[in-house]
Amino acid sequence: MPSFDPPLRDLAFVLHDLLDAPAVLATLAQHAEVSAELIDQMALEAGRFAAEKILPLNPGADKVGCLWHDGKVATPPGFVQAYDEFCELGWPSMCADIADGGQALPRLVFSLVGEMLSSCSHAFVMYAAVNHCAAECLRHSANEALRRHWLPLLASGHVTSSMCMTEAQAGSDIGLLSTRATATDDGRFLITGNKIFASGAEHDLTPNIMHLVLARLASAPAGSRGLSLFLVPKLLEDGSRNTVHCDGIEHKMGLHGSATCSMRFEQAQGWLVGEPNQGLRAMFPMMNEARLLSGLQALGLSEQALQNSLNYARERRQGRPASGQGPCPIIEHPDVQRMLLSQKAWTEGARAFVHWVALLLDIAQWHDDEVVRNDTAALVELLTPLVKGFLTENAQQSISAAIQIHGGHGYIAETGIEQLARDARVTTIYEGTTGIQAQDLLLRKVLGDGGRRLALLQERIQAWLALQAQDAHMHEFVRPLRAAMQTLTEATALLAQRETAQAGSSLAVSTHYLRLAGHVVFAFLWAQAAAAAWKPAQQGSAWHNAKLTTARFYFLQLLPESSHLMASIAAEPLNMEAAFEAA
Ligand SMILES: Cc1cc2nc3c(=O)[nH]c(=O)nc-3n(C[C@H](O)[C@H](O)[C@H](O)COP(=O)(O)OP(=O)(O)OC[C@H]3O[C@@H](n4cnc5c(N)ncnc54)[C@H](O)[C@@H]3O)c2cc1C
Repeated sequence: MPSFDPPLRDLAFVLHDLLDAPAVLATLAQHAEVSAELIDQMALEAGRFAAEKILPLNPGADKVGCLWHDGKVATPPGFVQAYDEFCELGWPSMCADIADGGQALPRLVFSLVGEMLSSCSHAFVMYAAVNHCAAECLRHSANEALRRHWLPLLASGHVTSSMCMTEAQAGSDIGLLSTRATATDDGRFLITGNKIFASGAEHDLTPNIMHLVLARLASAPAGSRGLSLFLVPKLLEDGSRNTVHCDGIEHKMGLHGSATCSMRFEQAQGWLVGEPNQGLRAMFPMMNEARLLSGLQALGLSEQALQNSLNYARERRQGRPASGQGPCPIIEHPDVQRMLLSQKAWTEGARAFVHWVALLLDIAQWHDDEVVRNDTAALVELLTPLVKGFLTENAQQSISAAIQIHGGHGYIAETGIEQLARDARVTTIYEGTTGIQAQDLLLRKVLGDGGRRLALLQERIQAWLALQAQDAHMHEFVRPLRAAMQTLTEATALLAQRETAQAGSSLAVSTHYLRLAGHVVFAFLWAQAAAAAWKPAQQGSAWHNAKLTTARFYFLQLLPESSHLMASIAAEPLNMEAAFEAA
């Protein structure tokens, strides 16, 4: 079974040296009392809980998985007890308002806890973290009566939630969905239709489950503009069963411990969340949180893979080093070091990225200056498809490297590394595939607002670069960061031109554009990491020297991908359809 040692050292580096998180939180009236000690304590406790209580359940979650019988779903062995403990320790209520029985802790704390849990069991996180996403949806979009009733239940963990959007004919194209809603005389709605792939929509962890369901009112326009969002509980207020049925669960490549449910709604009672025909807008807060959660899952899984690669590479003896006697630990071979460093660079970069965005969310919610709040929210909108699209794709590379480092032992089931690959694979698919994230980034978030959100990112990077001008030792990081940003500016101008000439013509390279933008953010974060590690490394700290070396590796070996991406973006557009015409 893979082991897990909570990465508290690197987490402390990210939170304190890189983000200066306690000082930033101290400027927000809501979180002025949140001390550095409290944040560190939360990370410590979450790491301990995840390593001791959740990690041992993960192999069983994979082997036994969820079991469906007669409409009921049994979660893997140990999940019920672990979930009860998770609730008793107050984890679901971390970010909930005090009035709802919550602890009103920063969004950043959810991020730390989510990372630890994701490292130990992706499947468990699917049940444990979704309430945070659902609560965001209700907080933004539901009326007071719904908020008052459901938010405390979500905070306590006594109810879990599910997101029911996908239907057989409506996946990425949610406008095709056909589940119907009919208004009753007393303000309720009756929901009828079939949903597929609904994670955690049936299980034995809690008696009640709150489904958030997208459906179409009779008078609604076609397409995504005609969708409304409904809250549909499994149990009604008097304890009776609503007419919601789980017809089965999927047999999947990985993530066996998470029930992926086929749901049937038969005139089920529901309540409107938000305005009629504004369902997507009402659901966006949940979708955005779920997309950020996918990035968090990618980080957690990558960390698990990295730790086990390092342990294995230190123990496994094969071959001779360039000079000296063998067999030596494989960590001494430069090709293995290359793979380990790429894992380290993707993983530690992801940690800086997701926790930075979490801190930005706290600023966007609580800063007392409205302009700062709005600008920060706009920046988060730009970064969300990058967290989802860039980090989840990088995790595939990281985990694949982990299998390679384990050799044949990585491919067989015994070491548990292949489970990470199977579990992580879905993170690039659900909550909007990488292709959908790329479209969202390019068409909506960048070109859609004339580059305003992108300018917010560029201004931050420029301001930071200006501060580094005098430090000669930073040139090795500053120059490639500046060049990558210039490349992104050129790519943006080029694709804007193409879109103006012909709408949709940039989409053949939108995923390249997403990766290019992801690299700019990574280069920004890794340059800052190098700046923070520089002095202690000079003073002899081996840990900081390792950080500096990883930063150098990122700039020398991974960032150059941006030049290849630009070459592909700038290449003459090809009529690809010609390749698929019948001979
Ligand atoms: C384990 C698991 C858990 C899930 N959990 C949930 C859940 O809790 N709730 C829920 O509602 N759904 C859930 N889903 C569904 C998931 O969100 C969808 O599978 C995903 O959105 C993709 O839809 P699809 O599978 O129909 O693929 P399709 O939409 O058919 O896409 C197939 C391919 O075509 C590409 N494509 C599609 N449209 C376009 C386009 N316009 N432009 C460019 N490329 C395009 C996609 O990128 C993809 O590569 C889950 C899925 C899985 C596997």
